[in-house]
Amino acid sequence: GQTCSAPGDSCVERTFIALKPDAIQRGLVGDIINRFERKGFHLLGLKFVQPSRQLVEKHYEEHLGRPFYEGLVNYMTSGPVLASVWEGKNIISSSRSLLGATDPSKAAPGTIRGDLATQVGRNLVHASDSPANAEREIGLWFQPEEVQSWSRALKKWINEEN
Ligand code: UDP
Repeated sequence: GQTCSAPGDSCVERTFIALKPDAIQRGLVGDIINRFERKGFHLLGLKFVQPSRQLVEKHYEEHLGRPFYEGLVNYMTSGPVLASVWEGKNIISSSRSLLGATDPSKAAPGTIRGDLATQVGRNLVHASDSPANAEREIGLWFQPEEVQSWSRALKKWINEEN
């Protein structure tokens, strides 16, 4: 789909969402996925993976050198991750609103992190922060054939223009 040029633009984007190892260990997969489904986002890809250190280092390369980097890579490789690709109107900013602030102690009630987590180093879920990063991350975690293109019968009840 086209990309959003300004906040508030109504346009279709794809994003990469990952349920981190703590979400899996805590049995929160259904709760978190349910929030994206109920919102009306369109699921394009889903897989359960044990990421390599190399994959996580590439994913978080912008944070290389930060004090939390080593702990972050250890956390993200500590167990399987549920990787997913979703599509929707303004999904990049909208999905980050569903997640809440990076630090769960500052995340609003009603958000995933606000409801379910307490610490930045165990904040349950990742969502891409820009269209360019979304495409980069989808490419890192998924083969092209693992991302489906399918039409929902429901779409006219979710998108006014379809
Ligand atoms: N993180 C951390 N300590 C910090 C900042 C970030 O452990 O002080 C971790 C946290 O898991 C966060 C990830 O690094 O989700 C990536 O940080 P970013 O600022 O990109 O936040 P996000 O986009 O995930 O909200």
